[in-house]
Amino acid sequence: KGRGKNRYARYDRELERHANKEARLAADLRLALGRGEFCLVYQPVVALPHGRPVGGEALVRWRHPDRGLVPPSEFIGVAERTGVIVALGSWVLREACRAASGWLASPAAASGPWRLSVNISARQLREPTFAAEVAAVLAETGLPPERLVAEVTETAVFDNEPAVAALTTLRGLGVSIALDDFGTGHSSLGLLRTIPATVLKVDKSFVDNIAGAEEEVIATAMLQLANGLRMDAVAEGVETSAQADRLHQLGYRQAQGFYFYRPVGAADMGALLAGTAAIAATSPGAASTQ
Ligand code: C2E
Ligand code: MG
Ligand code: MG
Ligand code: MG
Repeated sequence: KGRGKNRYARYDRELERHANKEARLAADLRLALGRGEFCLVYQPVVALPHGRPVGGEALVRWRHPDRGLVPPSEFIGVAERTGVIVALGSWVLREACRAASGWLASPAAASGPWRLSVNISARQLREPTFAAEVAAVLAETGLPPERLVAEVTETAVFDNEPAVAALTTLRGLGVSIALDDFGTGHSSLGLLRTIPATVLKVDKSFVDNIAGAEEEVIATAMLQLANGLRMDAVAEGVETSAQADRLHQLGYRQAQGFYFYRPVGAADMGALLAGTAAIAATSPGAASTQ
């Protein structure tokens, strides 16, 4: 009994330490936001098989004064659990729309049909003011709604009525909706009827082993699903030419991954969309900055 008690005491102490750590990190994130320590990088989405950029995805980074460039895996979860994601997500949305609006200043970029994706958390979608905020940011930055894609996960919208309502409002504005990491979340195919999604992003885990018989069957079924529902399918996390070739053979027309491009800065992304970038002229796999 005594040992059990000790064990619980230790468990409690660990929980408390964890909670303190999260609270500290959440406070740091708020400070960092105020100090302008976040920045966005953009990963091109390309058309297969040639790899020409047809869009981009905004990805947040934290330029920590001591720790350097901190990836989202180290802070998005905490930001979501503590609610900081609402303020951080607002900043990301405004910054991404501002950048995309800037790209449109180049006539070459403005003539292309590209779209920019922004990742949106469940917590943001639950804010009653979310759809109005998006409309306001679009108006303020001058970005046409047709240029914006809201990326959400199945899990974020599963059993989340306010989220579905917000997405329906966004779709009404002309904003596209992408289902991110498709096939890995709390998926229910019925969700595809209730969410006005226009893009299906097939998760990297299916692309990783695309040479495997089962993954190929799943990737093919997902593509058929997207085609049948008149959605675009984007294969995520393409790292090799073999994967790109196989996806193209299966009928995929859009992809994203380090084989084509790693995330780049806003200026490079704009230049890529304008088709004038030096890095666009290099062979796939050669381009990288971060
Ligand atoms: P995601 O939305 O699925 O974004 C794709 C992630 O996969 C990015 O990681 C990207 O750099 C990475 N990736 C792309 N191609 C490849 C590849 O070929 N190989 C490998 N190994 N990785 C590849 P990143 O930037 O670290 O973002 C991770 C996740 O963090 C994102 O996954 C998204 O869920 C979340 N995230 C990033 N930025 C934001 C944001 O602004 N808001 C919210 N709510 N979440 C964000
Ligand atoms: Mg995404
Ligand atoms: Mg994704
Ligand atoms: Mg993913």
